[in-house]
Amino acid sequence: MPNYKAPVRDFQFVLAEYLRISQYSAVPGFEDSGEALMNPVLEAAAQFCEEVLFPLNQKGDHEGLRYDNGTVHMPDGFKEAYKLYVEGGWPSFTCDTQYGGQGLPEVMNMPLMEMVCSANLSFGLTPGLSHGAYNAIFLHGSDALKAKYLPKLVSGVWSGVMCLTEPQAGTDLGLIRTKAEPDADGSYRVTGNKIFISSGEHELTENILHLVLARLPGAPEGTKGISLFLCPKFLVNDDGSTGARNSLTCTSIEHKMGLHASPTCAMEYAAATGWLVGEPHKGMRAMFTMMNAARLYVGVQGLGIGEVAYQNALGYAQERLQSRAITGAKFPEKPADPLTVHADVRRMLLTMRSFTEGGRALALEMALKTDLAHRHPDAAVRQEADDFVQLITPIVKSYLTDGGFEVASLAMQVYGGYGYIAEYGVEQYLRDVRITMIYEGTNGVQALDLVARKLPQGTGKYLRSFFHPAVAFVEKHKDNAEMKEFVKPLAKHIEYLQQATMWVGLNGFKNPDDAAGAAVEYQKMFSLVVLGYVWARQAEVALAKLKLGQDTAFYESKLATARFTMQKILPGTISLLASMTTGSKSLMQAPM
Ligand SMILES: Cc1cc2nc3c(=O)[nH]c(=O)nc-3n(C[C@H](O)[C@H](O)[C@H](O)COP(=O)(O)OP(=O)(O)OC[C@H]3O[C@@H](n4cnc5c(N)ncnc54)[C@H](O)[C@@H]3O)c2cc1C
Repeated sequence: MPNYKAPVRDFQFVLAEYLRISQYSAVPGFEDSGEALMNPVLEAAAQFCEEVLFPLNQKGDHEGLRYDNGTVHMPDGFKEAYKLYVEGGWPSFTCDTQYGGQGLPEVMNMPLMEMVCSANLSFGLTPGLSHGAYNAIFLHGSDALKAKYLPKLVSGVWSGVMCLTEPQAGTDLGLIRTKAEPDADGSYRVTGNKIFISSGEHELTENILHLVLARLPGAPEGTKGISLFLCPKFLVNDDGSTGARNSLTCTSIEHKMGLHASPTCAMEYAAATGWLVGEPHKGMRAMFTMMNAARLYVGVQGLGIGEVAYQNALGYAQERLQSRAITGAKFPEKPADPLTVHADVRRMLLTMRSFTEGGRALALEMALKTDLAHRHPDAAVRQEADDFVQLITPIVKSYLTDGGFEVASLAMQVYGGYGYIAEYGVEQYLRDVRITMIYEGTNGVQALDLVARKLPQGTGKYLRSFFHPAVAFVEKHKDNAEMKEFVKPLAKHIEYLQQATMWVGLNGFKNPDDAAGAAVEYQKMFSLVVLGYVWARQAEVALAKLKLGQDTAFYESKLATARFTMQKILPGTISLLASMTTGSKSLMQAPM
């Protein structure tokens, strides 16, 4: 049986010591961001995830879902857990106070998101998607739509889902065929079929708000002719009560590799009543404005699974006795030494820890920048934060989900044969996390976004939001003896990344296949350098804290992981640079 203990101390480190979020107390929403609120929130979220959600995770995986003539029955305990989630006020955490939300910043919500994903990713999808639907309606809906639908979405009594994919339209949403015909009363009749709709049907909430991409009559071809519609499962009366059933049906649920307790629904909209969200033909634009938040959230799914996989692998490696240490017995009184004495097992465990602790600091930093981009009173700060968010979004999404999968696989390796056996729980993590590399824009598509959109933007404006502070950090510490072991490799790999950036810019301009063929390798390289920068700054904080003589084991561990990251993880950039700069000929000329 696996275990999960929320990494509360690390959340405190990142929020209070690394990001120092209390320095933003003058920014609207951050007034209560000090430790007085942060610590009880972290502890309450940890308790809920450890005691309510985590015990349902393996059960939900084994029991799965039951489809019955349009209805989806959840595994035992999920409905009760969702009720507790709502009673705890968790859905409303970051929502606008006008609609019953608590108005807190995203950076305060991100630890909860990660804990939910670690404890029970299948469960997490419903509230995660509801938050996306809230954002879409909040940012683009009319005042009337907001007044009618947001309060119950915010409280969690209703949920929301995102309905983009159709059988012939996945990555290329320009191929969408679902239609919307205007009605005399200002509503629309939405007709078409969607597939793979997460939480499209379930019994957790009283109503489900479907946000559906569809085409109006005479709409332009491709993505420029797509509009966004809100089709509730139950129509809503003017007094906010639910009325007649809308003509939308879940026709089946998918049988899939993982996430067995998350319904992935085929949906049929048969002239379903819907309302336009935002302007006609601007549905993709509406989606884009909430995409950064959605991609960060999917990244955090990878991180959450990585964390729980790491914790279990570490616990197992400390207990499992196999062979003697190569330099002689470390525990002669035992029949063999624990796995943690072996260099290769340590390599795997430290790779996992570098990912989870580095990834957490990066995800929380991106959440903070998202908040600053929206809330900071100074326009220059908002702009700088937004540039960073734009650049880092594909990196966070791809790095944290590729990494989550790699870490789950390493956890299985640490367990040996037991890792492959269902009872131990690790194989579920590997199955559950795999989809995160595919949905919300595949990681290959993230790389194209990075190379084709983010790199050239404003002649490198987005790029500067990373390179300028990273280079300034290196400059600041270049004569600091304690920081040398972190800053020297960081400086070297920043230089490699700059070379790679030049290569992509110059060659991609001459031959687009060179840029497209190099995109994933460039994205991986960028991710490693971003991780290096995160770890060098974590080391800076740890060194300062060690001088105070408190919690030394925690800070020594940070330094050790920073050192490992610089020496064993960052050099990955060298092979990536070598490969990408060979160009795209070997890709494009091979027969297929
Ligand atoms: C469990 C699950 C849950 C999901 N939840 C939802 C949901 O809630 N709502 C929703 O709308 N959808 C959902 N999806 C759908 C998901 O978002 C899509 O599967 C995803 O967008 C990829 O589309 P596709 O499967 O059609 O693959 P395709 O678009 O056919 O892509 C196949 C491969 O080709 C690559 N590729 C495609 N185009 C290009 C290109 N131009 N350049 C380079 N490579 C390219 C892709 O990267 C990928 O590797 C879900 C899917 C699953 C399996």
